Amino acid sequence: MDLSAEDKHRLECFLVNIQQYSASFLGYPSAKDFDFSLFKDFLHYPINNIGDPFKEASFKVTSHEFEREVLKDVAEMLRAPEGNWWGYVTNGSTEGNLYGLYLARELFPNGIVYFSQASHYSVSKNVHILNMRHIMIRAQDNGEMDYEDLTDTLKIHRDVPAIIFANIGTTMTEARDDLKKIQSILDDLAISNRYIHSDAALCGAIAPFLDPRPAFDFADGADSIAISGHKFMGSPIPCGVVLAKKEAVDRIAQSIAYIGTLDTTITGSRNGLTPLFLWYSIHLLGVEGMRRRVNKSLAVAAYATEQLNEIGVTAWRNLNAITVVFPSPSVDLQQKWQLASAADQSHIIAMPGVENSDIDCFVNDTKCYLRQTCSN
Ligand SMILES: *Cc1c(COP(=O)(O)O)cnc(C)c1O
Repeated sequence: MDLSAEDKHRLECFLVNIQQYSASFLGYPSAKDFDFSLFKDFLHYPINNIGDPFKEASFKVTSHEFEREVLKDVAEMLRAPEGNWWGYVTNGSTEGNLYGLYLARELFPNGIVYFSQASHYSVSKNVHILNMRHIMIRAQDNGEMDYEDLTDTLKIHRDVPAIIFANIGTTMTEARDDLKKIQSILDDLAISNRYIHSDAALCGAIAPFLDPRPAFDFADGADSIAISGHKFMGSPIPCGVVLAKKEAVDRIAQSIAYIGTLDTTITGSRNGLTPLFLWYSIHLLGVEGMRRRVNKSLAVAAYATEQLNEIGVTAWRNLNAITVVFPSPSVDLQQKWQLASAADQSHIIAMPGVENSDIDCFVNDTKCYLRQTCSN
C-alpha cells in the first residue's frame, strides 16, 4: 500500500512549511538542536510505558528501564533525597504540575494553593480540576513572586496548610521564585503544614548549572518538581519529568488502593519513545555537555540584549536568564519571528539551536522596522 501522489505531495509541502517555521521562531522555549533519527527503527513497535516505571508489569513492550535511568539522572541533578523519591516521564509540565498539586491535595485536603500572577496559564486550570482553594499572589516587575504580598496573605491563613506553587522560570520573563525566602517566610509564621511544588518547566534543566545556583530543588525545600523535556532538553514529542518525595507518593498509592488499584501516574498509557529521547540526550551530552549548552544559551542571550540595546530597544533579562524581554514590536515582526507577547511585552529565548546569526537577522529586522525602511 502506498499514499496517493497527491497525499505525498501534501506531506512534502507540509515538511517545507515546518522547516521554515521552525527556523524562524525565536519566541517559544523549544530547543531545535536535536537529531533522533537513530530511533527510527523503534517506530515499528507499540512501545507503551503504561503504569509505574518502577513496577514489573505483564506488558513488556516498554522502555521502563531507560525511563528509570532518566529519572535517576534527573533526581541527582535536582538533589532529590537518596532513596526517598519517585517520579515518571510525563507529557509535559502541565501534567507534572497537576501531579505535584494532586500530591499536595492528598496530603493537605484543606490546604490553600498560593501562586503568583506570573504563573503559567495552566495553573488556574489545574487548581480548578483538583478543586483546590487558591490565592493569587502579586508578582514583582521582573516576574518574581512578591514576597511581601505572600507574607501578608499567609499571615491571614496561618491555621491552614500552605501549598506553594513556585515558578522556576516564569513564562514571560523567566523569573525564579526563591525557595529559601519562601521557606523562611513559612518558618517565621510557624506554618509547619506546608508543601512546595517547583514548576521548573524551562529552568529545571538550566538552573543546576548556574552560578549562583538558584534555590529551587529538593535540597532547597521542594516536595515535587516538574520539568519539560521538549523545552531546554529538546524533543520532537512533548514530554517532561515529574519527581516527588516518595512518602507523598506512597500516600496517594495507598489512598487509591482503597478503590482497588495501585496506579501512580496520571495517564494510563504513556509515551515509550520520549524516555528514550531523554536518555539519549543525557548520555550524549553528559554533565559537562549540558553545562556547555547552558553557557552557550546564556552567551547568546547576553549578545541579544546587547545588540537590541545598541539599536535603542530597552531589552533586559533576569540574572542568568536566557529569555530577553523588550517592549512589543509591530504585529508584523511578532508574527514573523513568532514572538510570545503579553501585556505589551515580548521576548525572545536563546534556546539551544538559536545562534548569534539568528539574533543578527532579528536585530536587523527590528532596526529597519523601527526606521520604517523595510521593504517586506
Ligand atoms: C511551558 C510551561 C508550562 C507548561 O509546560 P508544558 O510542558 O507545555 O505542558 C508550565 N509552566 C511554565 C513556567 C512553562 O514555561
